[in-house]
Amino acid sequence: MASPKEEEENCKMSQSKELSENKQRKKTMNKGALAPKLKLSLPPSDEASLSKFLTESGTFKDGDLLVNRHGVRIVSQSEVEAPALIQPSDNQLSLADFDAVQVIGKGNGGIVRLVQHKWTGQFFALKVIQMNIEESARKNIAQELKINQSSQCPYVVVCYQSFYDNGAVSIILEYMDGGSLADFMKKVPKIPEPCLAAICKQVLKGLWYLHHEKHIIHRDLKPSNLLINHRGEVKITDFGVSAILESTSGLANTFIGTYNYMSPERILGGNYGYRSDIWSLGLVFLECATGHFPYSPPQQGGWANVYELMETIVGQPAPRAPDDLFSPEFCSFIAACVQKEPKDRLSANELMAHPFITKYEDLEIDLASYFNSAAPLPAMS
Ligand code: ATP
Ligand code: MG
Repeated sequence: MASPKEEEENCKMSQSKELSENKQRKKTMNKGALAPKLKLSLPPSDEASLSKFLTESGTFKDGDLLVNRHGVRIVSQSEVEAPALIQPSDNQLSLADFDAVQVIGKGNGGIVRLVQHKWTGQFFALKVIQMNIEESARKNIAQELKINQSSQCPYVVVCYQSFYDNGAVSIILEYMDGGSLADFMKKVPKIPEPCLAAICKQVLKGLWYLHHEKHIIHRDLKPSNLLINHRGEVKITDFGVSAILESTSGLANTFIGTYNYMSPERILGGNYGYRSDIWSLGLVFLECATGHFPYSPPQQGGWANVYELMETIVGQPAPRAPDDLFSPEFCSFIAACVQKEPKDRLSANELMAHPFITKYEDLEIDLASYFNSAAPLPAMS
């Protein structure tokens, strides 16, 4: 096993070759590898006169007129030079503005696709959740999605717009090109402590924002709801979504999601608050450090059913980080999160000052290199 010093070095190792390859790939993509191309065959004289109207991506532009295979659009002169990037506040997107590129993920609730905005070329993730709900519940959902959209925090995935259409909720999200921490954990056996501290610091900032600024309990913090990108950023996603699913699940009488990271008080059906998210956070980071889910089933072959898992979480002592494998700071951090009594857990704010988080601050851990070296990212955003 690598010493903490070696782990620090691994983390900091500059993967300049891969980074420059990624940059090169990014350049190629930006040049329109995915952009539509028009095939023209014209006499040379006509081609010369046309070329001044034809952009690299195959779009004609003349003054404030823009034409490509998607149709005709009138734009302002400044937009002709470089179409302004879409901002969350624009609020004028429509599903018809996007081309589907590929499916990037599937959850219990729906499907996530990489999509490209037709006019700006920007990439987004489009999440579609199927739900057949009554008119009254739609109002709730619209309200929840508005909260989602108004979030302005670099540690929370931006929600650009959401639509309810024909029994499905579609959400246009910031695209995170590294996928989720769950995807990442399929590529590495475990995450070394210094990198975990750097990841955790960002998650805590996002959680602090949700709890203290937005007064939102995430309710579904788990590895697949922590997204990463090639810049080394880590962001929380799907807050509010679980509240929507819960508020509508009464109608369908089904809980969609996993109980793995659910706090004992929530499983017991009592009151729960922000500290319920802290329990989940502790389990997630314990899993990333050890490479396996902290609870193991009583028999070989996995959990007999979901109730067995729930009984274990409620009935057994809280899991701990083994002190022969991890630093005292890490063990203490996990113990500060994974306490069966919510009042014994620290808040996101308090955890930000915990020695495990501050320990590696001087090292300036380069998560971009770490994410790229462990599993090269496509670098599209
Ligand atoms: P559940 O449905 O139980 O919440 P989940 O979180 O895995 O599970 P989704 O939220 O639908 O389900 O996400 C599925 C996968 O899609 C994620 O694991 C991730 O790989 C990918 N994904 C989701 N959102 C984005 C995004 N904004 N950018 C890039 N990839 C994403
Ligand atoms: Mg999710």
